[in-house]
Amino acid sequence: MPLCKTEAIVLRTRDLGETSKILTLFTDRYGKIAAVAKGARRPKSRFGASLDLFAHSNIVLYIKESRDLHLISESTLLNAFYGLREDVHRLGFASTVVELVDRMVMRAERIPGLFPLLNGGLQALEKGKHPSLLLWALILKIVSVLGYRPQLFACNSCGGPIEGKLAGFSSAQGGVVCQDCGRKGVAFTAIASETLKLLQQLLADDFVVIRSLEIDTREGRRIAAIVTGFVGHCIEDHRPLSSVKFLEELK
Ligand SMILES: [Zn+2]
Repeated sequence: MPLCKTEAIVLRTRDLGETSKILTLFTDRYGKIAAVAKGARRPKSRFGASLDLFAHSNIVLYIKESRDLHLISESTLLNAFYGLREDVHRLGFASTVVELVDRMVMRAERIPGLFPLLNGGLQALEKGKHPSLLLWALILKIVSVLGYRPQLFACNSCGGPIEGKLAGFSSAQGGVVCQDCGRKGVAFTAIASETLKLLQQLLADDFVVIRSLEIDTREGRRIAAIVTGFVGHCIEDHRPLSSVKFLEELK
């Protein structure tokens, strides 16, 4: 059994027996994996808080080549993301992000760029102003890395320009559609060009820039509706994210 080191972020945990945990981790080197941490729920566990939900840790694993479930030998906490657990809204946002990664990434699938994006996104959500806007930006960036980048610069149905001809956003088409295609029966949610510009910024800009954007509540709701509708189409079974329902109940 080879012993391997990697950085990991805890996506999900569940109890195993009386003192252990099964963890779903997104790791820098091996992508999404499941692993057992024996004794992790004992009061004086050597793992401390390093395997709590959202924790970013350096872990040492026994990789079992023929098995789906690996074994954690050591774990050192790098960042507990306490700020994500102390505020109910930020908790909901971070839960949405880890659920999205867990639902969309297959076991052992390595996705270049996803680990630093997830880590940087959780850091922004923990401390940033406008965490809800940061959440929608992070979701758009994550689905893009996973191959579902929304097309926001040309009509997704005919490929034609949308300047002056924007009809709206189509989750099924995966981007914006022009008025001609809208008239031909392509289904869409109408959006204004200001909303499109904001979506383009959320997709392209760094979190530092996004947290300085000023938008009103109604525009925020429009963005939320478009991004959640789009993500529902990206997820294979189309079941909505349970964390998004939690966010809606918080309003
Ligand atoms: Zn078109």
